[in-house]
Amino acid sequence: MDYRITAAERASYKRCRRQWDLGSVHRRNLEPVEPGPVDVASAVRDALAVYYYPGMWDWQSAIVLPLVRKAFMRSIAEQPPSLQRTTNVDLGTALLERYLEWAPSLDDFGPIRIAHEVEALVPDPSETGRGLHLPDGRRILYSDRIDLLAIDVYDVYWVVRHQVVSDWQDVRRLLLDEEAVAACWAWEQTYLGMDVAGTIHNEIRVRADDLGLPPPATATGRAGRGGYPQHEASGGGRSIPQQQRQFGRPEAPAAIERVEQRTSGMIRRTRIRRTRQEINGMGALIAAEALEMLDPAVATYPTPGAWCSSCAFDVPCLTMSEGEDPALDLAARYRTRAVGSPVTGRLGAAGGSRGGVLPPS
Ligand code: SF4
Repeated sequence: MDYRITAAERASYKRCRRQWDLGSVHRRNLEPVEPGPVDVASAVRDALAVYYYPGMWDWQSAIVLPLVRKAFMRSIAEQPPSLQRTTNVDLGTALLERYLEWAPSLDDFGPIRIAHEVEALVPDPSETGRGLHLPDGRRILYSDRIDLLAIDVYDVYWVVRHQVVSDWQDVRRLLLDEEAVAACWAWEQTYLGMDVAGTIHNEIRVRADDLGLPPPATATGRAGRGGYPQHEASGGGRSIPQQQRQFGRPEAPAAIERVEQRTSGMIRRTRIRRTRQEINGMGALIAAEALEMLDPAVATYPTPGAWCSSCAFDVPCLTMSEGEDPALDLAARYRTRAVGSPVTGRLGAAGGSRGGVLPPS
């Protein structure tokens, strides 16, 4: 079986090595016995996977939107019960309803794949053209689940990330979002020959003063949910299985901004073009980190920060920081995570949709 480093594990390693050491499936593999609060952001992402499902993109809103709401509630229902459940469900429902109203004013693409799993062989820095392996011969892979792969009016591919935020993020933070760039790299490694132009950061802001504003017209002038259709009967539209058109494609503008940002109500879209060097360089960066993570002597020091407030290991971390043994905390509050929990499949993630045929991986 291959050795997989997921995007979430890599993010945890870079954020705080102590948190990574306690929670990683390759390390102590612990999870809290008590469930955390309902993950509204995850439920919103599940709902948006239905909203942008390529096979239903050209369907009428009256059919699709009830399915989107149902996906949100199903995602919430699948999570373990918790104290704040009702409050969080109300918050998530309001957020989702606002999104459904406002997204058409910003959507200027067509969806190709949603919640799509990609995985790439981590390159061996010491030998060009070879992948990293463990001493027992297992391959080392980097894997991620991409929220949405979209195509714009110029038939260019973009990796879209949905993020529920309490306030807009600094654009420098988005420029430096190398997890998103790694997603572009992993996509291109999975589907050789498909170049991704960059990343679209779809921020959904939770703020009371965003409520009550009238939604503007759709970004593309297309009625209903806006965007560009999957299929057009004439006029050079995309069709199955061709995503990039031979004819009828508009000329790309001569001067292209690296960062384009548009805000509409509680949604902000930041489109960032990534350079070839930026995307291609991710392989070497992931390889360097993988080698560190595989080193049994890697230091697992804590890195306190804003993320501590949502850390599942705050109690044993405090105990360790006081120089005490956390064994009692760990035994009472945590258990070993079940190995090999299946990842739920999703329509539109792997094929069978009208999003077109991808090259074989
Ligand atoms: S509480 Fe903070 S410093 Fe401690 S493990 Fe968690 S993220 Fe790291």
